[in-house]
Amino acid sequence: MTKPSVTVVGAGIVGVASSLWLQRAGFQVTLIDAGAVGEGASFGNAGNISPGAVVPYLIPGIWREAPGWLLDPQGPLAVRPGYFLKVLPWLATAVRSAKEEAALATSRAMHALHGGTLEAYDTLTKDTEAEGLIELSGQLYVSEKPDSAQGSELAQRMRAMAGVKAINLDWMEIRELEPSLAPIFKSGLLLPDNGRCKNPHQLVTGLARAAERNGATILRGKVTGFQKQGKRVQAIIVDGKPHPVERVVIAAGAASGALSAELGTRLPVEAERGYHITIEDPVVAPRMPVTNTDAKFACSPMNCGLRLAGTAEFAGMEAPPNWQRAELLKLQAQKMFPGVKLDKVTRWTGNRPSLPDGLPVLGAAPKYDNAYFAFGNSHFGMSAGPVMGKVIAEIVAGKPTSIDVAPFAPDRFR
Ligand SMILES: Cc1cc2nc3c(=O)[nH]c(=O)nc-3n(C[C@H](O)[C@H](O)[C@H](O)COP(=O)(O)OP(=O)(O)OC[C@H]3O[C@@H](n4cnc5c(N)ncnc54)[C@H](O)[C@@H]3O)c2cc1C
Repeated sequence: MTKPSVTVVGAGIVGVASSLWLQRAGFQVTLIDAGAVGEGASFGNAGNISPGAVVPYLIPGIWREAPGWLLDPQGPLAVRPGYFLKVLPWLATAVRSAKEEAALATSRAMHALHGGTLEAYDTLTKDTEAEGLIELSGQLYVSEKPDSAQGSELAQRMRAMAGVKAINLDWMEIRELEPSLAPIFKSGLLLPDNGRCKNPHQLVTGLARAAERNGATILRGKVTGFQKQGKRVQAIIVDGKPHPVERVVIAAGAASGALSAELGTRLPVEAERGYHITIEDPVVAPRMPVTNTDAKFACSPMNCGLRLAGTAEFAGMEAPPNWQRAELLKLQAQKMFPGVKLDKVTRWTGNRPSLPDGLPVLGAAPKYDNAYFAFGNSHFGMSAGPVMGKVIAEIVAGKPTSIDVAPFAPDRFR
């Protein structure tokens, strides 16, 4: 008997995890990407795998700090001058999402989506090339200011409500835990139940090969549109040619806004660009991922070196990179890790897919019976990816979902 089939657009962590869960649910899977597998945002992130990521970026107080960040050329947030008017409506919605009540609801939804990430990765990576790439390592947040690493009273309340274990550290305790750090950090927060990925690109490609071994077809080609009839998508247009589909899941990261609009649902997906440097043979490196909460970037020990990743830049998908932002990370590396060697450094930029309420889109396409959306995880996609995949497979299969998907509804911006 032939299996029902699904075509997944986008081979980042979300598309690949979705493919594996869809196979488990009994579907024949075709996975299509415009580029090579795992070379979007899933390539160069900081690899923090965080069941305890329950504090949204859009939280009361951020709009007091944001203007200062924007004015500081070395600050963690930038909007390219020519892009400001375009991103203004997005920012206006983001301002509304940063109110306390909305932020608490976002936090609850984040807990549901991220809480099971380590277990979901265990299931997906078992007996694959990706096995062992996810590790329960703990994560450390540090600040040069006293009583700051733990965040606001509301951030602490959110962690407490979600049952996230969080331990405040003083100067001496930070020194004992991470002797590689310069003695400049006055407050620290240890999240012992969070983890790390030793190499996000190897993780995604290893999982994609597992899907292929299970029978998935992986194709290279850019999806530019759809052939539709009534409430059904008949085919996707790949490099100008129709490719028939029975069902289609859009998991194309920051490019998903254009594709979902083609399917009649306009969603405010912005490309929130980040940068990284990866230092091969740094000589000095932390044992666990360390987030600098003042400058808002993460330092992650990986099997390819020490990676510093962060910054949020709104410039649109097509703007050329501003490598000055990656250069700043080199200065930060020298400041945080005395003795670090910067002889071999690679740099990268990628687009986080971000919605202005801080939550992804996960569910059936409102206007079509055989199309589904799974994208928009902004800063948390490596943590959310395996659970996003599980839930979208449940939705495609018409099964009850293992988490409440109402907060992620594709029609919530109507
Ligand atoms: C600097 C930085 C640091 C980060 N650190 C972390 C972290 O520590 N922890 C964490 O959890 N998250 C982190 N993130 C966020 C995380 O990387 C993303 O949320 C996640 O990778 C998004 O995965 P995705 O599969 O949705 O998108 P992507 O990985 O971008 O994949 C989308 C894919 O779709 C393909 N595609 C796009 N358009 C088309 C089309 N028209 N046709 C065919 N294919 C198409 C692309 O080629 C791409 O391969 C970070 C992000 C950045 C930028």
